[in-house]
Amino acid sequence: MNSTLPHTPCPKDKLCGGCQYQRVPYAEQLARKQARLNHLLGRFGPVLPIIGMDDPTHYRCKVQAAFGVDGRGRVISGVYQSGSHRIVAVDDCLLEDRAADRVIVTIRRLLPKHSIAAFDERRGTGWLRHVLVRVGRFTGELMVVLVAVDARFPQKKHFLAALLEACPEISTVVLNVNDRRTSLVLGERETVLYGKGFVEDELLGFRFRISPRSFYQVNPVQTEVLYRTALDFAELKGTERVLDAYCGTGTIGICASKLAGQVAGVELNRDAVRDAIVNAKGNGVKNIWFTCGDAGEFLERTAAEGEPVDVVLMDPPRAGSDERFLNSLLRAAPRRVVYVSCGPDTLARDLAFLTRGGYRMDRAQPIDMFPFTEHVECVTLMTRK
Ligand code: SAH
Repeated sequence: MNSTLPHTPCPKDKLCGGCQYQRVPYAEQLARKQARLNHLLGRFGPVLPIIGMDDPTHYRCKVQAAFGVDGRGRVISGVYQSGSHRIVAVDDCLLEDRAADRVIVTIRRLLPKHSIAAFDERRGTGWLRHVLVRVGRFTGELMVVLVAVDARFPQKKHFLAALLEACPEISTVVLNVNDRRTSLVLGERETVLYGKGFVEDELLGFRFRISPRSFYQVNPVQTEVLYRTALDFAELKGTERVLDAYCGTGTIGICASKLAGQVAGVELNRDAVRDAIVNAKGNGVKNIWFTCGDAGEFLERTAAEGEPVDVVLMDPPRAGSDERFLNSLLRAAPRRVVYVSCGPDTLARDLAFLTRGGYRMDRAQPIDMFPFTEHVECVTLMTRK
C-alpha cells in the first residue's frame, strides 16, 4: 500500500471510474487541480490557493446505487461501469457516507428474503432499479428513495418493518417510480412510505429541506466553505438588490439574505423552488422570493424592465451559463458578479465573454468539493470595469 494514501486503495476503482485520483496522494490531487485552474483562469486574474479538506474521505451525502441481477441470478448493487450499463458491485466506497452505504447493503440483503426482485435490464423483468440515500450531515437524518418500475409494492409493510429495524437511523422512505428507459435515476411519481418525505440539513446556521429530486451540494462540509467564500466576495452592506441565479433550494440566497436588502432567486426545477420557498419561510427570511423558470429568461425580463440588480450570485450546472443569461447580465450591469462553478472549462468560456463585455475578474478561489475525482469547484469575483 502506498503510505502517503490515507486509505486502502479501492479494488474496484478501475472498473468504476468514479475516482480518477484514487491512487493519487491528496496533496498531489490538490496540486493538479490548482495547476488546471491556474492554466484556465490565470489570464483573467489571480487564482488563490485551493482549499482542501482535512479529511477528504466519505464526504458524499448523496449516494446512488444501481440494482440488478448478476449472471447467476443474484441481486447486486453498485455503480455502472464507466461508459456501460454493467453494474460493478460496490459495498463501501471511499467517497460515500458510511451510513448510506450500510443502508444500501442492508436493502440488498433484505430483497430476496421479501421476494422483491431487482430490475434485470436485459430481460426487462424485476422491480427495484436504484436506491438513493441522502444524509443530512448536521441533522443526522437519512432518507431512502427506492426507485422502482411501478408503484405496486405488496411486500411494503414487512419489508419496511425489517429495514427500519435493521437501520433505525433511517428517518424517511420514499418510493419513486421510473418506468422509462432513461439514464436519469429518478422518475416523476413519488409516494412517501415512511416519515416526512425529505431530510433537512444545516448550513451556516440556516436549516434546509432537501426533497428527493432537489439539487443539494453533495459535500456539505465544503459547501459551507464555498458559501462563506461567495458571501465574502459579494461584500454585501445590507442594502443591495441581489439575484441568486440557478438557486436550487435557495441555499446561497437565504444565506445572503441577512446581509442584503432583498434577494430574488430563480431556478428551473419545480421541486427545488418549492423547497426554496419552504426554506425561506422556515428560516424566517422575509426579504427573498423565488421564481421558477429559466435564469436567462428571468434576467432578460429584469433587465428589459430596468429593474436594478446590484449583485448577481450565479451557480449554473457544469455546462455553464448561456448567451441569453450572459447578454442580459451585461445589460443589467450589476456592480459585482460572484460566479460559482463546478465546470472550469465552461467557467473560463463564460469569463471570456464577461471580460469582453466590461467585467474584470478580481480573484478566483478554488475549493475542493470532490476529493479523489478530477472535478473542482471555483468561486470567482467579477466587478464592472
Ligand atoms: N445554488 C444551488 C444550486 C446549484 S446547481 C446550490 O448551491 O445548491 C445548479 C442549479 O441550476 C440546479 O438546481 C438546476 O436545476 C438549475 N438550473 C439548470 N439550468 C437552469 C436554467 N436554465 N435556469 C435556471 N436554473 C437552472
